[in-house]
Amino acid sequence: MFQAELYDGLSAKGKTVWVEVHESAILLTAESYRQSYQFKEIDVQAKLGQAKRIVDLPNGVRLEAANIDALEDAISSSSIGFWKALHYLENHLAWVMVSLVVTVFAGWMFLQHGVPKLAEYVAEATPPTMEKNLGEQVLKGLDHKLGYFKPSKTSKTRQLEIAAALKRLCQDNDCPEYTLNFRDGGVIGANAFALPGGIMVVTDGLVELAKSNDEIIAVLAHELGHVEKRHAFRQSIQGTLAGLMLAAITGDVSTLGSGLPAALMQMRYSREHELEADRFALASLQKSCLPPRAFAEILYRLQNQHPHAHGEEGEKKADKEEGAESYNPMSDMLSTHPNTMDRIKPFLEAEPQC
Ligand SMILES: [Zn+2]
Repeated sequence: MFQAELYDGLSAKGKTVWVEVHESAILLTAESYRQSYQFKEIDVQAKLGQAKRIVDLPNGVRLEAANIDALEDAISSSSIGFWKALHYLENHLAWVMVSLVVTVFAGWMFLQHGVPKLAEYVAEATPPTMEKNLGEQVLKGLDHKLGYFKPSKTSKTRQLEIAAALKRLCQDNDCPEYTLNFRDGGVIGANAFALPGGIMVVTDGLVELAKSNDEIIAVLAHELGHVEKRHAFRQSIQGTLAGLMLAAITGDVSTLGSGLPAALMQMRYSREHELEADRFALASLQKSCLPPRAFAEILYRLQNQHPHAHGEEGEKKADKEEGAESYNPMSDMLSTHPNTMDRIKPFLEAEPQC
């Protein structure tokens, strides 16, 4: 039995009552007052610091008492056990710190591994036509809205020659569906992109920079690797998911809150994607009797063209290409960049297969 204040939910004034705890019910008694409640009708609120304990009864009636141990022991349901444990954790700083670390770590792991996996599932469940529509919208944006691209000045003959060479590569290999687009890249300079839906873009700058068709085909083979694995589409989904998740956690929908970490994450994953695309390029060049060295050589030349380009330009959904990720001995020494020499090495070492 314990004493408690009873509030009837109608007046602010409480009434002191005795609470008798029975096997499956409580009996409240006071002068000219007697009322019993079954355990299933009552709801014990979680303990909060040193505050009085609150027990909700039907029809807005509530009990307040300093100590309700007798009642809690009698109910002793699993949910009470949970709240007791929670109260213990909340009142011990070490546990609070451990929980904080675990929560942050779990969130980070989810961003690093869960979100990309989720993006993969979403991409798999999305019909290819939808992905292609997205890619077309992005290209339209780059052409008109953002004005990155202008119509290509590469001659039609040269364009057809490159398209035919790429087609030959795909006759020897299992290429994904693609469309090849030529553009004047303007400030983007020499570059190539794979947009969602297999839409590949080559800039005039890249065509001019290449010393042979093999070099252009080598870059396009790498792009086909991105197309094959739907990297551009998956990254767009990943960015959106990460942004939504961070906005949900922080309640901050500003660009800084949701955009920056998402961008950082995209960079982390684009490296893995680069390696996947490289493997596709190397295998298809070898199968098609083209020299794998061509890939390494155009990467060197791209790097010299963009000595300071580390991906600051370019459209978010577009795959930041060779200009941003090519071999740079200086940054390799400083190890501020992924070890791109490792990326190129297989192309330099590869034996011709025919
Ligand atoms: Zn790439």
